Amino acid sequence: MLRPRYTLSSEILPPEPWAVETVRFDRDLAEQFAGQGETMFALSNGYLGVRGMFDEGTPVKEPGVFLNGFFEFRPITYGEHAYGFPRRGQSILNCPDGTIMKLFVGDEPFTLSQAKVLSYRRRLDLQNATLVRDVCWAAPSGQRLRLTTTRLVSLADRHLAAIAYELRAEDGEADVLISSELAYRPPLPLDIEDPRLAAGFTDRVLRPAGTSGRGPRAVLSYCTRRSKLLLACGVDHAWTTDGMISSESTCTEDLAVTVFKGTLRRGESIRIEKYLAYHYGDDAASTEIKQAAQTTLDRAREQGFAGVAARQKTEAAEFWRRADITVVTDDPRTQQVVRWNLFQLLQASERVEGHGIAARGLTGQSYEGHYFWDTEIYVLPFLVYTQPRIARALLQHRYGMLDKARVRARELGHAGAIFPWRTINGEEASAYYAAGTAQYHINADIAYAVRKYVEVSGDEAFLWQTGAEILVETARLWRDLGFFSDRHDGRFCINGVTGPDEYTALVNNNYFTNLMARENLRYAADTLRAMARACPEALADLAHRTGLSDEEPASWEEAADRMYLPYDERLGIRPQDEDFLDLEPWDFANTPQENYPLLLHYHPLNLYRSQVIKQADTVLAMFLLGSQFTVEEKKRNFDYYDPLTTHDSSLSVCIQSIVANEIGYRRKALRYFRFAAVMDLSDVGGNMMHGAHIASIGGTWMALVYGFAGLRDDGGRLSFRPRLPDEWSRLAFCLTVQGRRLRVEIDRDMTSYELLAGAPLALRHDGAEITLSAQAPLVRRPTPKPPPEPLPDFADTAAC
Ligand code: BGC
Repeated sequence: MLRPRYTLSSEILPPEPWAVETVRFDRDLAEQFAGQGETMFALSNGYLGVRGMFDEGTPVKEPGVFLNGFFEFRPITYGEHAYGFPRRGQSILNCPDGTIMKLFVGDEPFTLSQAKVLSYRRRLDLQNATLVRDVCWAAPSGQRLRLTTTRLVSLADRHLAAIAYELRAEDGEADVLISSELAYRPPLPLDIEDPRLAAGFTDRVLRPAGTSGRGPRAVLSYCTRRSKLLLACGVDHAWTTDGMISSESTCTEDLAVTVFKGTLRRGESIRIEKYLAYHYGDDAASTEIKQAAQTTLDRAREQGFAGVAARQKTEAAEFWRRADITVVTDDPRTQQVVRWNLFQLLQASERVEGHGIAARGLTGQSYEGHYFWDTEIYVLPFLVYTQPRIARALLQHRYGMLDKARVRARELGHAGAIFPWRTINGEEASAYYAAGTAQYHINADIAYAVRKYVEVSGDEAFLWQTGAEILVETARLWRDLGFFSDRHDGRFCINGVTGPDEYTALVNNNYFTNLMARENLRYAADTLRAMARACPEALADLAHRTGLSDEEPASWEEAADRMYLPYDERLGIRPQDEDFLDLEPWDFANTPQENYPLLLHYHPLNLYRSQVIKQADTVLAMFLLGSQFTVEEKKRNFDYYDPLTTHDSSLSVCIQSIVANEIGYRRKALRYFRFAAVMDLSDVGGNMMHGAHIASIGGTWMALVYGFAGLRDDGGRLSFRPRLPDEWSRLAFCLTVQGRRLRVEIDRDMTSYELLAGAPLALRHDGAEITLSAQAPLVRRPTPKPPPEPLPDFADTAAC
């Protein structure tokens, strides 16, 4: 089932620790993998995302410039409508593209597919957060030219992207024309076969709303009809040359162009610095938004490209100081792949302020720019431990959806709040309720994330002011959704839900959902009790805001205490739901490899009536709430579910890796980790071209820290049980915990814990307590020797 679509060739993409670089231009590969390249070389800061299109605009597959949360509503058309189906969805919009720099030498356009390329490098520089391309070629008229471009999406100024473009005549004399554009692009045609892709628009969505152009600076504005947003895209240029070059600018409502034209003699060059500003907001504030684009351009011009790039480097260095992971293995590719993944987390989150993180970040349009549970369960742990400020902002953003979630709950006849399964603006945007609205577990996932953030950061103020209200409303939902069933000895049952595994839908008592709901109910009640002691005024205020009655917390606890959690005596496992074990086993032996992912080849009903799993479900519950299970229980459940799991969702293998590690399946843990780590770079899912899989990327961090380092953090108390694979000699990373900074270094023989900053910290290493303090900041202990594998070795796939 799982297979990398390709292995990274060291000749084309050498394994470097701090860069992803192609060192050779291969015309066929560039054409064939244009989409993958656009994802691999995408730049983003969490607010503005630019796919890795080539400067000349070709070869191109899915060009994209996205702004987090900039969307248009689109009507959802159902063959048969029913009450409570969302009537409109939301789709992220592709913005005008300012990366285009077309070049003509003589009368011939320069395109990589046609040019006689003499040398080529394209480097995603992870330390500088820049994309650099250097190409030297022979023009048809014989001259050698060299073009070096550096592109960045600013981490310091979230509205800004910048390009430095330098063309030099290496020999001979060349007549050159460079057309630098900011151009509106019509929407891409939609692929109706793949439900994971964006729904398209048939009519024009970005409506011109004014243009202003002065010399090489222009601002194009657009508004959206239904979402009533206004977009302003600005462009400006500065240039120097020792050649004979003149420039001319024109501007229409869909295109701003500055043309540089003239002659470069041998050794002469032109350097163009291009600045792009993207702002959007409520269309009522159109003047301010257009002005903001001008201001961004003014600021960028003042700093110059060198200034902008220097700030970029500083910001990136700060990220790596907090979040880098060193992995030393037999295969140097691992370090590169891990850093590319970490870089994607930086790109998805750094300037996300006021928005969520979309399933593909801002690297592609797949899943329409929607926010899912991916953020809370897969990305938040990384942020909580490396950048708690951003974790808080994301939870605050969820809190901002609470009113709409309350309205949705009323619409569906429930108390409390129902958070949307997928959304941009807080409204449910899922058209297929069985794998959408029915995933009520998102409510418990958000509550779980609140707890993780509060316990690891120690930010109780957030809990009192914001988190508690989320907990009250989600607890109310569970209490109202379930009931005490006589058929189950008065146990609390939650029926008609879909758990994380989307190949089994609308089931009763999904184990994951019930367990997470129990946690949600208990945490809500505990939090109110703690507030009564610590901050009665905040509790009174909360009770007033939410109409909380004195009896409610006790009723949540009652539901939690009597929660029905299916158990199968015969197998000694937790059935994924009440009926799962009665389903017919899926015929894996007769399922051809090309039929994966199954969702593209089988009707949902075929999947729903079989024991076949898309992604970790019960196994995920056993990781998230791991302290409630023994290792033997985890092993029994893993043994049952793992062979049934297709991993057709990218959210699966990282979790299987963590649990495999814990139960001692070391080969399998490594194998799954490799798949998670190269989910994009080796295109395991076959859809990398549509954007990077941010949840799997967050899961890769988890597989390293929770898996190989064996971190557990119940109640915010850290413990580690390191288990390095035999091929690895070192794993090292930093964590931020309750205001302290901790560095963990695991070598084959020794593990060291160092308190870099903050108050004393107690933690456990392989079961034994240690305390770090300013007086004794460094403690070293032997790395535990792994017990022998309980299973025969698994066939290892060379995924990396
Ligand atoms: C998975 C969901 C996930 C979504 C977005 C789906 O394929 O099944 O769990 O939230 O993708 O990543």
